[in-house]
Amino acid sequence: MTELYFDSSYVTSWATQLADKFTQNGQHYIVLQETAFYPNGGGQPCDGGTIDGIPVLDVSRVEGRIWHQVASLPEQQSGAELYCEIDWQRRFDHMQQHSGQHLLSATCLRVLNAPTLSFHLGEQECTIDIDIAELKPDQVRLVEREVNAYIYRNLPIRSYIVNEEELAKLTLVKPPSVTGMVRIVEIEGVEYNACGGTHVSRTGELGIVKLYKAEKNKGHIRLYFRCGWRVLDDYNNSLAVYDTIATRFNTGRGDIVGRFEKWNDEQKQQRDELERLRRENDAYVLNELLGRIQQDRPLAESEPGEVSITLIEQKWDSRSLQDMQRLANVLLEQGNLIVLFASRDERKVVLAQAGHADLQCGMFFKQHLAEFGGKGGGNDRMAQAGFDSVEQLEKFVGLVRERFGKR
Ligand SMILES: [Zn+2]
Repeated sequence: MTELYFDSSYVTSWATQLADKFTQNGQHYIVLQETAFYPNGGGQPCDGGTIDGIPVLDVSRVEGRIWHQVASLPEQQSGAELYCEIDWQRRFDHMQQHSGQHLLSATCLRVLNAPTLSFHLGEQECTIDIDIAELKPDQVRLVEREVNAYIYRNLPIRSYIVNEEELAKLTLVKPPSVTGMVRIVEIEGVEYNACGGTHVSRTGELGIVKLYKAEKNKGHIRLYFRCGWRVLDDYNNSLAVYDTIATRFNTGRGDIVGRFEKWNDEQKQQRDELERLRRENDAYVLNELLGRIQQDRPLAESEPGEVSITLIEQKWDSRSLQDMQRLANVLLEQGNLIVLFASRDERKVVLAQAGHADLQCGMFFKQHLAEFGGKGGGNDRMAQAGFDSVEQLEKFVGLVRERFGKR
């Protein structure tokens, strides 16, 4: 079996013979005489594409052979010729990210003296973990500039096989994990690296390496980056966001920040004005509710001689839970009361009491909320609950009125 990607990363289509086909655990597999489908490994995901028009779902190395997992098995038998095609867009993206990682790691080693510990090539972003405890923003910018300087020099990237004798003459980034014949990837004047992956042939093909974030991870630094077409896609997506915001603010890209700050100031003024109006409204509402207390009537359950308690009930179309809690607290300062507030739009209820030993609000909710589909709780003095529907809320309010209201 020949692995074509070791000689060239640019083989995109070829004809070869079917070596084997089989089904294992319900999955279909093909083995080819020659393959350019790169298998999962070395931090790089496998290639996609088709074999005789059949989609390739996964590629892996199993006991020295490359297994191509396919959507279905071809009708042809072993020895038959098959036409293979690689999903070049996916492959070239992997080549850009992988080669970019080589260059970024080499730059981190030279500029920061920080070797690379691991590499991840993700669907969206790539990361390397580098052996350094801290990285300042100006160091990140320096690494970014230096790695892109390598790109603009358009340096050749070559791969070749060396024996142990030849290997001994090279200064590798790190010792190879295999013995005997070793595949070397050389970026001219930058590094020698023992690697079996797929790479671009010159650094210029990377276009750009963009660093997005550096964060601490288990005592090391994790660098997030993208290379080549991914950066252009991301740039276009970012510009689309800019343009959407600029259009909403009816301004140009350059003025977005200024307009946003102005808008933010206006929002703050409006919030302050709203808060002032709310407090005015609170005072008015409290006055009206306090007026009702003047017509104080004893509870039905009250025994003679017991302190009289009044149920103050008020419903609003819309009032926040925090508002209702604040109003209830002010009202309770006025004496022995039970306060029942409800907001229909928010479907929230607040029950509060002062001076009524028989009513523990939280306990009352715990005992009765479930039968009305309500959720909530609280302490002896105050409890709050939310309901799925206004009907359930009204029924619960009815229960409280029945239990504690005047007759
Ligand atoms: Zn490599």
